[in-house]
This record gives sequence, C-alpha cells and structure tokens, in this order.
Amino acid sequence: MRSKLMEMLESRKEEMIEIRRYLHENPELSFKEEKTAQYIADFYENKDVDVDRDVGNGYGLIITITGGKPGKTIGLRADFDALPIMEEADVPFKSKNEGVMHACGHDAHTAYLLVLADCLIQLKDELNGTIKIIHQHAEEVPPGGAKSILESGKLDDLDAIFGIHVLPMDEAGVVGYHSGYSFNGRSYFKLKIQGQGGHGSSPHKANDSIVAGAHFVTAVQTIISRRINPMDVGVITIGSFDGKGTFNVIKDSIEIEGDIRYMSTETQEIIAKEMKRMVDGIEVEFGVECTLDYEADYPPLNNDPGYTAFAAESLKQVKDKDIKEVKEYPPLAPSEDFAYYLEKIPGCYFFIGCTPKGVKEPYFNHHPKFDIDEDAILVAAKAVGHVVCSYFEQNK
Ligand code: MN
Repeated sequence: MRSKLMEMLESRKEEMIEIRRYLHENPELSFKEEKTAQYIADFYENKDVDVDRDVGNGYGLIITITGGKPGKTIGLRADFDALPIMEEADVPFKSKNEGVMHACGHDAHTAYLLVLADCLIQLKDELNGTIKIIHQHAEEVPPGGAKSILESGKLDDLDAIFGIHVLPMDEAGVVGYHSGYSFNGRSYFKLKIQGQGGHGSSPHKANDSIVAGAHFVTAVQTIISRRINPMDVGVITIGSFDGKGTFNVIKDSIEIEGDIRYMSTETQEIIAKEMKRMVDGIEVEFGVECTLDYEADYPPLNNDPGYTAFAAESLKQVKDKDIKEVKEYPPLAPSEDFAYYLEKIPGCYFFIGCTPKGVKEPYFNHHPKFDIDEDAILVAAKAVGHVVCSYFEQNK
C-alpha cells in the first residue's frame, strides 16, 4: 500500500497546490467557515466514503474511511480557519476576502489532507482498519472546534490520532517532532477589586482599590518565582490595569486582566490555586471585595512519548526523496487546540518545515507577510501517509 500511496501523492502534487491556493484566496474566520466547509464537503461528493457534517459547534466534518479488513481506528486532523489579518504577502493568489488571511498555513493543512484522504479512499480495500479524517473548523478562537468535536463522541473509538502544523523553522523536507509537552497552554483572568471611593485628602475614610490592585500586580509574580518548580515554565502577564480616575479622588474599584501560560497541566493547577488564595488574602488584608474570573483556555499540548517515538522512527526509516531530515524540536510557545484531542486520545502532533526557498529570515505564522514553500504540502501528505502505513503495518 505504501509505495502505491506515495506514487499517487506525488502525481497529485500540483492539485494539492491548486487547492491550497484556492483556499488561500478565499479565507474565512473561525466559526464562520461556511463556504470552506461546503468546499470540503463538495470534494468528497461521489466518493465512496461516509461524510458526517453534524459534528461539533460549527462547520467541522468527519470522513470515515472503512478499510477492507478490520483493525484499529485512527484519526487524522487538519484545521481550516483563517485569521483577521490584512494580507501583505506578495503572492498572485492573495486573499480576496479583505482583512482575512490564511496566515497560519491551515490552507496547506487542508490541501494535503483532502488529497491524502482521497488516495486512502481509493486504496481502502487494502486497509486493515479505519481512518477518520477530521476537517476541523475554528482552531484560532476559543473555545475552538476541537473540544466540541470530541464532545460529539464521534471520536470515542479512536486508538490514535495524528496531525501536523507547517512552521517556517526549517526548509520544506524537514519534519520536526517533540515528545511530551510541546505547545504552551493558556488561561485568561479578570480580577475586579471593589474598595470604597473617597476624597484624596482622607484615605482613612475610604478604601483605596488602586493600592490593593498594585499590591496584587507585584505579589502575583511570586507565584512564578516562589511556587513553581524553577525547571517548569510559567508566565503571568498583566495586560490591563483599568485604574483611570482623577488625581485627588480615591478610586472606588479597579479591574485587572491578564494572560497565563504554562507547559503542564500541573503548573496550570498550581497557578490557578495560588491566585485564588492570593486574592482571598487581599480581601482580608485590604478589606476589599474581589471577584476573580479565571478561564482555563487551550491546555498544554502533550505528545504521547510512545506515538511520538513511533512517528519519528517511522519517518527516519523510510527512504523518501521528499523527506530529507527528521529532527527533534524544542517545545514551542504558541497554543493549539489539538491539545484537547491528545488529552483523550494518544497520538502525536508534529511539524513540517515550510520556509520559502532562498529566504533566511522567514515571517512566522500569523504575520501579514507569512508565506510557505508549497513543496511542504507534498511533504506533509507523504509524512502523514508514511505514519499511517507504518501504523497499520505494525497493527496487522
Ligand atoms: Mn495554526
């Protein structure tokens, strides 16, 4: 199956590029991907496969490819939403939807997975198991599409899941991986401190919310410096302190907002617990009333060590002219809702080099000039295709 699949993918490289360019020209924002979802559904029309469009909280699709022989079930996921960015990349297939841009490469993810899925559908009689192709909406905006697709229960039978992201950390042909925690998790919080307003000359008759808030701003960093293992990653950023008033009036209430990042669920739990405790302490210490809203957003992405080693070894062993190097990457700062799948299903999310040819300092994902080397699309299709073949060879 492997050699046939690779030949088919190679012969359809141009088609993958065409699909990517079409999607690039027609980007849609998260939770608004109506036309993109229709385009994907149309692609599968008249193909011998089950298409389920009723998944999750938006426009997600699950395509189930049932093999000719029974066996394990795996999931392959690609996202398809774009970003609210005005494109500045100088390409002939520039976004036609002003202010919206495929600046994270999800166009390339969808292009490779459509063609790979079609090839697998054609080869399904030889397949000893089932493959669920997950076309996921809304990766960029919380609560994201992944969580709701999982909650549909339609992935409960998966034995493993794989996905990729294009990253311009290397040229096309390089595949990167990281075992264990690989992408940051993030949380959001808002703290309202209610004191009592008063005359600037008479603090003893008021209760200054700014002083209590200022105490919180400095004290909260001790969670990072005194409560977190120094070998672990934790960041608390206060992005907003709404304390604007008048110079001679004691402020009645203030609002603080912040962003929290961490590389493990344990760290997230420590930060949440300690912040709550600190806020309770400020109420006692300053006699103010505090309201803390804490929302844990995407969890840290935790690649299963067994499946990561399996994917990396499978790719290192294949002799494929398009896969030039397979190398270990460090953990990366962004957050990604593929993390939700990995909380429930073991698997691996890995990386496909896409630095445009001849470019030394590429624009990173989410930049208005972000662009990829389109050779990376075939590399993605082949890399995931090889992992699929190795998986079903091993699980006969
Ligand atoms: Mn992305």
